[in-house]
Amino acid sequence: MARYEGAGDLASALAEADREELAETIASAGLYNQKSETLIRVAGRVREEYGSAEGFDDFVREAEYGAVRDALLDMKGVGPKTADCVLLFAGGRGGVFPVDTHVHRIYRRLGIAPPDADHEEVRAVLERDVPAEKCGFGHTASIQFGREYCSARNPACLEDPEACPMADLCEQVGVYPATGEVVDPAEASADGSERAELELGRSGESEAVAAIAEDVHDASAELDAESADLIRRGSNGQVHGVVSVFGLGECDAHARRRE
Ligand code: SF4
Repeated sequence: MARYEGAGDLASALAEADREELAETIASAGLYNQKSETLIRVAGRVREEYGSAEGFDDFVREAEYGAVRDALLDMKGVGPKTADCVLLFAGGRGGVFPVDTHVHRIYRRLGIAPPDADHEEVRAVLERDVPAEKCGFGHTASIQFGREYCSARNPACLEDPEACPMADLCEQVGVYPATGEVVDPAEASADGSERAELELGRSGESEAVAAIAEDVHDASAELDAESADLIRRGSNGQVHGVVSVFGLGECDAHARRRE
């Protein structure tokens, strides 16, 4: 990108870029044809509405939070996650927790957000409970955690309950170690044991149900007092637990700042 950044105003340089050349420049990012078209279109709009890349940067940093987010979302090719990343990382706004596919999955599996929450609802829960200054690290740490432990198809706890550092705080919504099944939390029943029973087509206390009941009993017995207390205190307690496990420090919703 140096060739564009060194050519004066970045917005003008990108707005006038040759699309194929730009696509080649960003090829390592994937979806480069689509992204090159979006970059040229958005750069043209930035130049037209804000005068320059610098003018747009000032707007992102200084204008009212809601106005900036609306303006970003109004740009074709910019979705909520991208808008929130711009607000957080380029705009330096505290209290913004971008929700990508990893974040959306993890916090519904943990039971912190409702199982059927969409991206915006998960974002609202996290921005309510995670300290403003920890949202950026929370976002990147969650993505890493999703890749290394709580992946979409093969969460670490599926075969080994001890393999995940969050296991003692997690409701494993949509994850069924007894059957090896993983579904989106929105498709999970309220009670995992009920689902296992239905899927096995058995009535009464099937082997799977008995195994789950035994696991739950064992897990409860092993919970240390502090973890048990976190869980008893409900979702806000869980957020405190997540914050602690990710090394994010004390959770204080009142520290949240938008500006
Ligand atoms: S215990 Fe399983 S479902 Fe819960 S966070 Fe860990 S890997 Fe994900």
